[in-house]
Amino acid sequence: MGFWHEQLAGPTDPARDAGWGTDRQPRKGFFTDTSICIGCKACEVACKEWNTLPMDGDLSILGMSYDNTGDLGATTWRHVAFVEQTADRIADARRSGAALVDLGMPSARPPDEAAVAEVPDLRWLMASDVCKHCTHAGCLDVCPTGALFRSEFGTVVVQADVCNGCGYCVPACPFGVIERREPLPDKRSAERVGVAQKCTLCYDRLDADLTPACAKACPTTSIQFGDHDEMRRRAHERVEVLHAQGLTEARVYGGNEHDGVGGTGSVFLLVDEPEVYGLPPDPIVATARLPEMFRAAGFAATGLLAAAAFAFLGRRR
Ligand code: SF4
Ligand code: SF4
Ligand code: SF4
Repeated sequence: MGFWHEQLAGPTDPARDAGWGTDRQPRKGFFTDTSICIGCKACEVACKEWNTLPMDGDLSILGMSYDNTGDLGATTWRHVAFVEQTADRIADARRSGAALVDLGMPSARPPDEAAVAEVPDLRWLMASDVCKHCTHAGCLDVCPTGALFRSEFGTVVVQADVCNGCGYCVPACPFGVIERREPLPDKRSAERVGVAQKCTLCYDRLDADLTPACAKACPTTSIQFGDHDEMRRRAHERVEVLHAQGLTEARVYGGNEHDGVGGTGSVFLLVDEPEVYGLPPDPIVATARLPEMFRAAGFAATGLLAAAAFAFLGRRR
């Protein structure tokens, strides 16, 4: 695949493409294994503490689940979702996961005959979501000021002091992660109001060879941090283990470099379909469609030129 095409879609090394030379580091990322998350929210709190993010709301539960932060946003760079499921939904998740194996999902195999796990009456899905640090990041592609940049670790970082608050990055993110900070109602914090905010994958900590605060705080190793290749390998291995136990609902999210964003730096193990967690099933960055858009525009321009030439020549006759 050509260099220019790699800038738009598919597998690539994003730090190299961004021009990092001798300072370039192995690409870093997360593997978030939702099957062992206990919903303690230590990751959310650690992120807020390290990045001095104000609390959201007044801590009351939202009414739709045992959650009080709701979603990722300018003041919540890690968000732990709570999803309650009954036996019917769990059985559906198990069937849809098994169907992915039949469709040839990489690094997953059907469970042994003997490994049929019992379907519980009820379960909680707990999943800690974060910026995906996409290989092809829509937010970064549209930023006119350079406030968003690709770090030497292959991560996507936003600089509050460079952002002019135009908000172009907000609709450009296919995951709805980045957000401009609105003034808080009780003026709890006036910091960084009006500028785009999201997880930096703890760029300051990586620079000091430290583990990101959220991964450090997680008591169950649901959030693992390390070299991106290693994170993807662990995710696929873990899916294999769960499938061998009959838990066919397990699947990898973000680990496919041929998806619409070239794969994500944050890889997840989910135990139901992505939509259940509020994640898009088939995210796509706008630049992935640029070659076909330019091709269509080229055809249209050629047609217009030809029509103008015919009209001109016809008038002269
Ligand atoms: S998830 Fe959204 S905010 Fe994060 S890097 Fe990708 S496009 Fe940017
Ligand atoms: S990597 Fe750092 S900034 Fe990102 S969610 Fe974790 S603690 Fe927050
Ligand atoms: S700290 Fe770990 S176990 Fe606790 S909510 Fe976050 S990801 Fe889940």
